[in-house]
Amino acid sequence: MEIPVVQKVLKLNDDIALLLRERFEQAGVVVFNFISAPGSGKTSLLETTIRHFRGRFAIAVIEGDPDSTLDAQRIARHGCPVVQIQTSGGCHLEANLVQRAIAQFDLDSLDALFIENVGNMVCPVEFDLGEHHRVVLVSTPEGSDKPAKYPKLFRTAGIILLNKCDLLPYVPFDRAQFDTYVQSVNPEHPAVSITATRPETCTAWFAWAEAKITGRMAVPAR
Ligand code: MG
Ligand code: ZN
Repeated sequence: MEIPVVQKVLKLNDDIALLLRERFEQAGVVVFNFISAPGSGKTSLLETTIRHFRGRFAIAVIEGDPDSTLDAQRIARHGCPVVQIQTSGGCHLEANLVQRAIAQFDLDSLDALFIENVGNMVCPVEFDLGEHHRVVLVSTPEGSDKPAKYPKLFRTAGIILLNKCDLLPYVPFDRAQFDTYVQSVNPEHPAVSITATRPETCTAWFAWAEAKITGRMAVPAR
């Protein structure tokens, strides 16, 4: 039987992702794939996180966008190694793009790699980038129905961050309904409230990320 083209693409992607994950394991670098809609605050969270871990962990960033180097410029300002992937209109990152991007880094010297996916809640879910953890963001102006509409995204999340909680008094966001939806798709990971531009609200996120990074560093290199 003829195999559909979409499955071929995903199979190829999975094969490359497997190689990437082995490479990351060898290098002792823990990899996070940040997925959200455009404008949820991924880049802002990365900036806050880089500042928080400065001097403690060696972090590099891969930025994915359809065009421009705007987000990479924001990251570079923090003195962080960064590669911009331009997908030329493509709406998600694929493993082969990450494979080419990591050639720009000295992986063995890194503790963590943050990959900011293209802003999109649909197809990034299907494309494994060799990451260890998926960080899913949703911001309060987007509404409380997102976990019900994009269940697979929320199901595959290692952590779910509810961003822009400072706007809660001003937007019609139903926190109880949101938590109920999250509970139904990913009962192990209740959403963590943050305001990415205010580091003092991000302590639970920092603690989670730190545990993942130090946990990986403690594993002896093979
Ligand atoms: Mg961004
Ligand atoms: Zn896509």
